[in-house]
Amino acid sequence: MAVLEIRQFPDKILRKKAEPVTTITESERDLIRDMFEAMYLSSGVGLAAPQVGVSKQIIVCNPTGQRSDELAIINPHVRYRKGKKVKDCEGCLSIPEISAEVVRFLKISVTGKDPSGKDFELEAEGLLARIIAHECDHLEGVLFIDRIGFFKRKALVNKYKKKTGITCIGKWY
Ligand SMILES: [Zn+2]
Repeated sequence: MAVLEIRQFPDKILRKKAEPVTTITESERDLIRDMFEAMYLSSGVGLAAPQVGVSKQIIVCNPTGQRSDELAIINPHVRYRKGKKVKDCEGCLSIPEISAEVVRFLKISVTGKDPSGKDFELEAEGLLARIIAHECDHLEGVLFIDRIGFFKRKALVNKYKKKTGITCIGKWY
């Protein structure tokens, strides 16, 4: 098992659209296992493959940390978002030290394949819906800081620079 390094903003791979997975093999399943481990090591609840340097459409989630609640989706496709819009605090393992309130729909329906290659559809609500939406955003190169207002984002990025010492952000927004 490999310990995967989590890429940090402004790493360019975080802004790339991830490629669909055409065949699911043992190497994708290994990657998924390693992604779960990297996520647990960082006390996260979700992770997308681009965050570990692999530009493929794979996400893993676990809102509780219990193994029985593990969810891995290959080629996730958001069918719809519905319900009321809710605001909640969100962070990201690729943008440590900062968090912000992000508005998202209460419910999400997603289709995709599980690690065995079987098609499935899932309607999620609340925290799980938020995690899935956040991770699917990663596959499009979208980060949670893109979903807040310009001035809030600017302030947050300044805080991130101060806390992490990362200065080479450039004109990313
Ligand atoms: Zn994230």
